[in-house]
Amino acid sequence: MMQTLSYLHYKQQRKSMAIESLNEECGVFGIISPKEQVAESIYLGLFALQHRGQESAGIATSDGSKLFKKTDTGLIANVFKNIHASNLKGSLGIGHTRYSTTGSDSKKNAQPLIVRGINGEIALGHNGNLVNTEELKEKFLSEFQIDYKTTADSEVIAHMYANSLGKDWFDRSNYCMRYIKGAFSILIMTKDELIGARDPLGIRPLCLGKKEGSWILSSESSALSHIGADFVREIDNGETVVINKDGIQSSKYNSRSNDHKMCIFEQIYFSRPDSIIDGQLAYESRVKMGESLAKEHSVDADIVVGVPDSAIPAAIGYSNESKIPYTEGLIRNRYVGRTFISPNQKLRELGVKTKFNVLDQVVKDKKIILIDDSIVRGTTTTRVIEMIRDAGAKEVHMRVSSPPITSPCYFGVDMATTSELLANQFSIDDIRKIIGADSLGFLSLEALITSVNSNKNSYCKACFTGDYPMPVQLDFDKFHLEKIKEKN
Ligand code: SF4
Repeated sequence: MMQTLSYLHYKQQRKSMAIESLNEECGVFGIISPKEQVAESIYLGLFALQHRGQESAGIATSDGSKLFKKTDTGLIANVFKNIHASNLKGSLGIGHTRYSTTGSDSKKNAQPLIVRGINGEIALGHNGNLVNTEELKEKFLSEFQIDYKTTADSEVIAHMYANSLGKDWFDRSNYCMRYIKGAFSILIMTKDELIGARDPLGIRPLCLGKKEGSWILSSESSALSHIGADFVREIDNGETVVINKDGIQSSKYNSRSNDHKMCIFEQIYFSRPDSIIDGQLAYESRVKMGESLAKEHSVDADIVVGVPDSAIPAAIGYSNESKIPYTEGLIRNRYVGRTFISPNQKLRELGVKTKFNVLDQVVKDKKIILIDDSIVRGTTTTRVIEMIRDAGAKEVHMRVSSPPITSPCYFGVDMATTSELLANQFSIDDIRKIIGADSLGFLSLEALITSVNSNKNSYCKACFTGDYPMPVQLDFDKFHLEKIKEKN
């Protein structure tokens, strides 16, 4: 419910709140090669997906008879200090970089996971979040008396695939797709096969690449070019691909393409701007969002400034449309990225000053249009506006290249609880007062949809509408499985 009177109280409270961030889910990257050792290429691919998760990383490989694995907490560069000397042998492997959306960020939850079941030993890396983990454990896995080693929903998917009925991986995957509810783009590795699958709604991305005789599966196409591979295509919603020495085969679960509900935030923010999503470069979608924002919320100003790095394409789009010059007014400290603010609350509280610096001479005495891609709790936005005003800006007009976020995500994005979402609690004008802007405008949902290529994809837009593409448990939090474990 909108509260129109208590925003001043809220504003005071927020002084002690953590810096907000929309935390991405995870990244997966796998290669099967006829002869090359793959660990180093997987390492490079994961590097390109580091933005999708910074809490832990891992690689599992197979030499055709045995699986090898190394996982740990931390960034890819820390986990694999000397990848050349690792014992990750083999011409088949999968890698994972994780942000915890279910389960804590402890070492035991790092992926890939290796489990054994009636279908043999498999390694799994998962991007997404399930909404029926407990049901799967009780209804489908109880007979196997599994000793769960992690508190992540991904382990449940691994055991489902390792123990599902079916003559081949297509049958087994279709069985799993029928019962597993939620978002999952997964890579599975057996001793001699690489398997990729995307849930029936295709909420999280997954794409296929090729380099000479090697096949690659990756969360984002941008990671393919890092190892010199060509983008082949996106994996479809409900599709399973199995790649082995005989080549690649594909099968589709009984889902229609118009069931496609990819997360629209992949277009707005999560994916890298150089990734192809739904057939369109994310950079181009973001420029169009900025152009539409300028059409919907024009204002007289001297310069357009984007919050780096993610809002820069939208700021360029706003400038193109409004003919107001785009200027760099905020510099991001490249060595204090998400890494720095992500895992540790104390460090987060040090604030955005460590992350951004204002170019005082650029903003002084100017009317600024400040573009960001989203407002979650509003803490970062407030502090950035304060910094710009302190540097002498005359006016700060906030423009946001997505609609107000009013509902939390249950499909693998850790954004905030309902009551922490500023737009769930306050009117647009109160948000304007809270963040300290002279004016505030959000992109409309209609304009967002026309900015992305939505020919075959109707997108999940639930954090803007509250209309989830499947039933969700509204009191779910990411430590849900740990709480259940403690209770038992
Ligand atoms: Fe993406 Fe929002 Fe849907 Fe979550 S609720 S999958 S963030 S669009």
